[in-house]
Amino acid sequence: MSEKRDYYEVLGVSKSADEAEIKKAYRKLALKYHPDKNPDDKEAEEKFKEAAEAYEVLSDSQKRAQYDRFGHAGMDGAGGFSGGGMNMDDIFSHFGDIFGGHFGGHFGGSSFGGSRGGGSVRTKGSNLRVKIKLTLEEIANGAHKKIKVNKLVNADGVTYKTCSTCNGSGRITRISQTFLGAMQTQTACTTCQGTGKLIDKKPADANSEGLKRKEDIIELDIPAGVEDGMQLSVSGKGNAGPFNGIPGDLIVVIEEIQHSELRRDGEHLHYDAYVNFVDAVLGESIEIPTVTGKVKIKVEPGTQSGKTLRLKGKGLPILQGYGSGDLFVHINVWTPKKVTKEEKAVLEKLRTSENFIPSPDENEKGFFQRVKDMFQ
Ligand SMILES: [Zn+2]
Repeated sequence: MSEKRDYYEVLGVSKSADEAEIKKAYRKLALKYHPDKNPDDKEAEEKFKEAAEAYEVLSDSQKRAQYDRFGHAGMDGAGGFSGGGMNMDDIFSHFGDIFGGHFGGHFGGSSFGGSRGGGSVRTKGSNLRVKIKLTLEEIANGAHKKIKVNKLVNADGVTYKTCSTCNGSGRITRISQTFLGAMQTQTACTTCQGTGKLIDKKPADANSEGLKRKEDIIELDIPAGVEDGMQLSVSGKGNAGPFNGIPGDLIVVIEEIQHSELRRDGEHLHYDAYVNFVDAVLGESIEIPTVTGKVKIKVEPGTQSGKTLRLKGKGLPILQGYGSGDLFVHINVWTPKKVTKEEKAVLEKLRTSENFIPSPDENEKGFFQRVKDMFQ
């Protein structure tokens, strides 16, 4: 698949464009590249689909926020989330909102696609939200998850009859007088919600839309580097659309299980290491946890409490980009709360020994040095 263009660029709007600007820009492009106006023009069709996809994301505040933050990787593509673009049915199903009744009939009811059955709309199913808990290790490596969902599916044995209000067209035509003269307007039929069909018979366990709940197992590939609270949407894996409409989306909400020892800060990780006073003075190897297992690091002789060691690339993968964050190891010198008589005697001797008098002007200087260590 070729590189996707930036959605803002596709619609020709700025990153700060508001809802109305986005809608207006999309309306213009949809009219320009509409298949009815450009029959057998592959390039126009691609442009039409591209604009629809951009609008789908930028008109939805949640999807837009996700896109602003993570780019195309946040929408699909990364790690197997197949948004897979949009089909014509998806696109036309939104036209009612964009063009209102005036254009709904002409443009929405295009013969394009063949399967649209005389211009009635295909209703879209609702989105299905699931929470998924991930350990820091799973976030670091990416995870393949099987999750059980309870979703709405089309019930077997539902039969339909043609809506008598609109005779199956899904639309009601009215002639109204406007300042431009008599105008024919079309609106979706309210009896059948524009589907042109009504339920004739349904099994007892189906709801009024002919749907019922069913357990399903969905397999997901979660890309490495996701964050708590992030929402990933999987197109078409949500609840079934009533009247054999288009399924809704599956919204996967990421929940991060707090690691017992590592703290996360974006792609970076922090670890508080405690070493005893003797190890800080004489130096020692210590074992620390990482998301890929334990590693040994060296604490140099004469290490001050508060010193930060930076392990490059030992943090988390960056979702939208290359490489990984770092692991910051904060060295804390452990101060014993209780000492024996013998220990006390040794320490008393050291108290006034010449190398044991603090001289903070030398070497590291506490706070500022710590900040320097962090950002060097
Ligand atoms: Zn109807």
